[in-house]
Amino acid sequence: MEQNGHPGSEGRVDALIRVAREFGQQGWTPATSGNYSVRLAEDRLMMTRSGVHKRDLDRSGLMPVDLHGRPLEGGRPSAETGLHTQLYRHFPDANAVLHVHSPAATVASRLLAAQGRIELSDYEMLKAFSGIDTHATRLVVPVLPNSQDIDALAATLQPWLADGTVRWVYLIAGHGLYAWGREVADAARHVEALEFLLACHLLEQRVTAV
Ligand SMILES: [Zn+2]
Repeated sequence: MEQNGHPGSEGRVDALIRVAREFGQQGWTPATSGNYSVRLAEDRLMMTRSGVHKRDLDRSGLMPVDLHGRPLEGGRPSAETGLHTQLYRHFPDANAVLHVHSPAATVASRLLAAQGRIELSDYEMLKAFSGIDTHATRLVVPVLPNSQDIDALAATLQPWLADGTVRWVYLIAGHGLYAWGREVADAARHVEALEFLLACHLLEQRVTAV
């Protein structure tokens, strides 16, 4: 892994654009929803601009910000930039953060809102998460209450970060999922894996309810 990301940072931007278009085609960022970022250097990110359709993302839809979300050039970054910078500040090994409004994450997070979490275990797909090499494990995924106040939302994640429970993914109720990783490909794999696992969870609920 490149410590400061400098040699690979252009590659990260290209990889992000490819993933954004792919996820857009999948219908995971409808109607300009979702937002993405990559780390360019220790204290510098490339963040999606506000209002851009992620399915058509190109370099003009991205802008540099610092680790507190302050724009480093003109324009307005995504409204949820504060949730990205929180993850980059907490996890020095995070170099990509992806947020999508995918269907299973949106529906499952509503159903799980009262519980405030979901624990996923005994799924082969858990091995898609970095550092997990067996199905016989337990991934705890927080489900945060939604809010239009991004600082308040970040504050509800903070205890999960502080006690080390959260790793790679979390959900916001009725809203979507956040995933991060060491590189764009890792974060993208975490998005796909969580979306799949939540779709399985919903299917299981439906089957066992009959
Ligand atoms: Zn969102």
